[in-house]
Amino acid sequence: MADRSTAHDYACMVCGETLAYSDKSSEHVCDYCRLEFTSTIHCPNGHFVCDECHSADALDLLRRMAEGDSSTSPRNLLEAAFKHSSFTFHGPEHHSLVPAALLIAMKNLGIKRPNGELVTYEMILEGIRRGSKIPGGYCGTAGNCGACVGAGIAVALFLGSTPTKGPERLSAHRATIAALEKVTDGLIRCCKRSSLYGIAAAIEILRNEHQVDLGPEPEFGSCENWERNRDCARNACVYFPT
Ligand SMILES: [Zn+2]
Ligand SMILES: [Zn+2]
Repeated sequence: MADRSTAHDYACMVCGETLAYSDKSSEHVCDYCRLEFTSTIHCPNGHFVCDECHSADALDLLRRMAEGDSSTSPRNLLEAAFKHSSFTFHGPEHHSLVPAALLIAMKNLGIKRPNGELVTYEMILEGIRRGSKIPGGYCGTAGNCGACVGAGIAVALFLGSTPTKGPERLSAHRATIAALEKVTDGLIRCCKRSSLYGIAAAIEILRNEHQVDLGPEPEFGSCENWERNRDCARNACVYFPT
């Protein structure tokens, strides 16, 4: 098995081979849970690991952060998870990370929701759960981006949005739209960049529409992870250090 801390970032968790992305889905049995899945991502050597098994350790980390991390900065929460060994460089755990970082910061800041209640641990768990429903590779196969939807998830939970609440639903949609506007930069996927876009969009919407101050958006030129990304777009990315 390949070294988890390095090869795992791009590679099959079973054999370390570079994963293949297809524009068509095919049937696979997960090597860990033995359940059947259809997916556009697979190992050329025939291995397959489902999103749930792929992200299990990372989602456990997010639940522990929800319980104990006292940071009030979504960016710092993002970086703590980015640098943890359970996080792959690109992977669907980022879809849960964006709402988790935003909601943990709101909980630690004691921010009141429009209904007067505080953001709770259970709400953060719900954000992690909703993010985990977005499949890996969605940015390339669905005209959407899981980390961007993470911004919408955080705003939807903050507002208590449901399909039958117009204004709340609108504001959550606006958060995802703002994130998607940032992510349509024409570059190939980077889950770190998309996560930064996701929290930037949510911070902006929460400040402008709900007077919630989560601090500044991530600064351009402030990426701390580009050296680990062999596909880094470097100067074409707004977060690449100048
Ligand atoms: Zn493999
Ligand atoms: Zn599995």
